Amino acid sequence: MARKTVLVCDDCGKEVGDNKGATMRMTFTDARRGARQADLCDDCAGKMPGHAAARRGRRPKSATAAA
Ligand SMILES: [Zn+2]
Repeated sequence: MARKTVLVCDDCGKEVGDNKGATMRMTFTDARRGARQADLCDDCAGKMPGHAAARRGRRPKSATAAA
Protein backbone atom coordinates (compact mmCIF):
# COMPACT_ATOMS: atom_id res chain seq x y z
CA MET A 1 0.00 0.00 0.00
CA ALA A 2 1.51 3.26 -1.08
CA ARG A 3 1.65 5.86 1.61
CA LYS A 4 0.08 9.03 0.41
CA THR A 5 1.26 12.45 1.37
CA VAL A 6 -1.61 14.49 2.63
CA LEU A 7 -1.60 18.05 1.45
CA VAL A 8 -2.62 20.54 4.09
CA CYS A 9 -3.76 24.09 3.45
CA ASP A 10 -1.10 26.56 4.57
CA ASP A 11 -3.76 29.06 5.55
CA CYS A 12 -6.40 27.18 7.52
CA GLY A 13 -4.73 23.81 8.03
CA LYS A 14 -7.51 21.82 6.42
CA GLU A 15 -6.70 18.82 4.32
CA VAL A 16 -6.69 19.51 0.62
CA GLY A 17 -8.28 16.69 -1.32
CA ASP A 18 -7.06 15.18 -4.54
CA ASN A 19 -7.58 17.43 -7.55
CA LYS A 20 -8.58 20.22 -5.21
CA GLY A 21 -6.96 23.34 -3.90
CA ALA A 22 -4.34 25.58 -5.38
CA THR A 23 -0.74 26.54 -5.09
CA MET A 24 0.04 30.19 -4.64
CA ARG A 25 3.51 31.14 -5.73
CA MET A 26 4.99 34.44 -4.82
CA THR A 27 8.14 35.69 -6.45
CA PHE A 28 9.87 38.75 -5.10
CA THR A 29 11.02 41.34 -7.59
CA ASP A 30 14.31 41.31 -5.76
CA ALA A 31 15.53 37.89 -6.81
CA ARG A 32 17.75 37.62 -3.75
CA ARG A 33 14.66 37.24 -1.61
CA GLY A 34 13.76 34.12 -3.48
CA ALA A 35 10.26 32.79 -3.84
CA ARG A 36 7.57 31.63 -1.50
CA GLN A 37 4.89 29.09 -2.08
CA ALA A 38 1.73 28.12 -0.26
CA ASP A 39 -0.64 25.23 -0.68
CA LEU A 40 -4.22 26.33 -0.31
CA CYS A 41 -7.58 24.67 -0.13
CA ASP A 42 -10.29 25.80 -2.50
CA ASP A 43 -11.86 28.02 0.15
CA CYS A 44 -8.69 29.87 1.01
CA ALA A 45 -7.53 30.12 -2.58
CA GLY A 46 -10.74 31.99 -3.33
CA LYS A 47 -10.04 34.50 -0.57
CA MET A 48 -6.53 35.31 -1.68
CA PRO A 49 -5.78 38.60 -3.40
CA GLY A 50 -4.69 38.56 -6.97
CA HIS A 51 -6.11 38.52 -10.42
CA ALA A 52 -6.32 36.15 -13.29
CA ALA A 53 -2.91 35.83 -14.81
CA ALA A 54 -1.97 34.76 -18.28
CA ARG A 55 0.42 31.91 -18.61
CA ARG A 56 3.98 33.00 -18.93
CA GLY A 57 5.84 33.02 -22.17
CA ARG A 58 3.39 34.59 -24.54
CA ARG A 59 2.23 38.15 -24.66
CA PRO A 60 -1.37 38.98 -25.49
CA LYS A 61 -1.73 40.52 -28.93
CA SER A 62 -3.00 43.85 -27.56
CA ALA A 63 0.13 44.37 -25.44
CA THR A 64 2.39 43.74 -28.38
CA ALA A 65 0.51 46.23 -30.51
CA ALA A 66 0.76 48.96 -27.86
CA ALA A 67 4.51 48.59 -27.54
ZN1 LIG B 1 -7.62 26.65 3.64
